[in-house]
Amino acid sequence: MIEFVLSDEQRQVRDTIRRFVENEIMPLESVLIRREIEGGHGASPGLTGGEMRALQEKAQALGFWGIDLPSEYGGADLDPVTQALIHEELGRSIVDFQFGGSVLPALFSCDEAQKDTYLLPTIQGERVSCIAISESGSGSDAKAMRTTAVRDADGWVINGEKTWITRGDIADYVILFARTPNEGDPNGITCFLVDRDAGWTSAPIPVMGSRDKIGSLFFNDVRVPGTAVLGTVNRGFDHAMPFIYRNRAFVLSAKNLGAMTRMIELTLEWAKGRKVFGKLLADRDNIVQAVAELELELRSSKLMVYHAAAKAAQGGDYRHEACTVKAYVARAANRVADRALQIHGAMGYAKESVVERWYRDLRVERIYDGSDEVNLANVARNLFRGYARPGDMF
Ligand SMILES: Cc1cc2nc3c(=O)[nH]c(=O)nc-3n(C[C@H](O)[C@H](O)[C@H](O)COP(=O)(O)OP(=O)(O)OC[C@H]3O[C@@H](n4cnc5c(N)ncnc54)[C@H](O)[C@@H]3O)c2cc1C
Repeated sequence: MIEFVLSDEQRQVRDTIRRFVENEIMPLESVLIRREIEGGHGASPGLTGGEMRALQEKAQALGFWGIDLPSEYGGADLDPVTQALIHEELGRSIVDFQFGGSVLPALFSCDEAQKDTYLLPTIQGERVSCIAISESGSGSDAKAMRTTAVRDADGWVINGEKTWITRGDIADYVILFARTPNEGDPNGITCFLVDRDAGWTSAPIPVMGSRDKIGSLFFNDVRVPGTAVLGTVNRGFDHAMPFIYRNRAFVLSAKNLGAMTRMIELTLEWAKGRKVFGKLLADRDNIVQAVAELELELRSSKLMVYHAAAKAAQGGDYRHEACTVKAYVARAANRVADRALQIHGAMGYAKESVVERWYRDLRVERIYDGSDEVNLANVARNLFRGYARPGDMF
């Protein structure tokens, strides 16, 4: 039997986060918008470190900290469906808030010494990490990366450049993926933990809408000890893929559900109050149809996200779902932003509108963590090779 029912606990979590978003996060939207207008054009500014920490402390007082962190580190280790519910609620605001105690999952592969240096201080918010896979010549085709790490008497010597790295210009260490061609596998890629103090530098990249201080990273004979290897030599991608599939299935996609929901709410409100040629937008057939289309986009997206989250919660292999969900929901969210903006007219195009902000910020959802084309190629490959049966969801 299929039950589309939340447990009492899930409902309570969702309602608490919803109130938190409405009472604590949404009031900051006008602050960020004002900051952007006064700061001129450029990337959408995010919260300052101090604002983020203050909000994280308020959330922690409500019991929300380390929502995806294993309990052995003091986290709540919530199941994927509950995580999706939380991300959906957070997605209802343009403010990019993250709970405290959240870390890139690759860090769970740290050995005991690495835990003390990287994992635990990052959980506590004392250190900032970034994950660097992409390069100017290899984005989707990540395995074509050219950054190398070569062993010498003291450890490893790293050379190369990474680009488009989220928090790359502010991180104090990087989870770095580099080719290790002298280690028995010419295509081997290994993961390293590299402090900024080791000598890598960075430069900011101005982008359309992201708030996360995107940067390029430069490695010029950067030396690290043998203990900098995360996990096993030549097995670097083992540490990247679980994070990427999770993002696709029920983190980024769930956030996009929240954005779609809020844009539809705002559009309904706008259409009920805006008269053109003596008639409310809400009474015009084309607007009524358009609003109904938005609801179809949201509901179909929502079913896909929660199906993938439920499969992940059951411990199933949800990689096919993750690619399907990401390719569908990223595009649906952009269609909703475009339509919502159109119905708002010039007001939707104004900086003071959150719809304008989403119109820019959501565009990247179709590019990172697997572009539309990459996810669609994965979906088709799974079908052609028989890894997944068409439409098989149960
Ligand atoms: C805001 C932002 C944050 C990011 N954060 C990070 C980060 O923290 N760490 C990190 O390592 N990277 C990060 N990235 C990089 C991101 O992962 C890459 O941008 C992404 O993998 C796409 O690579 P690319 O931009 O080089 O495009 P390309 O790979 O050059 O692709 C260009 C176009 O070709 C299409 N294409 C690619 N392959 C195929 C194919 N086989 N068939 C048909 N079409 C194809 C793509 O879909 C795209 O439309 C970030 C990017 C952005 C924009």
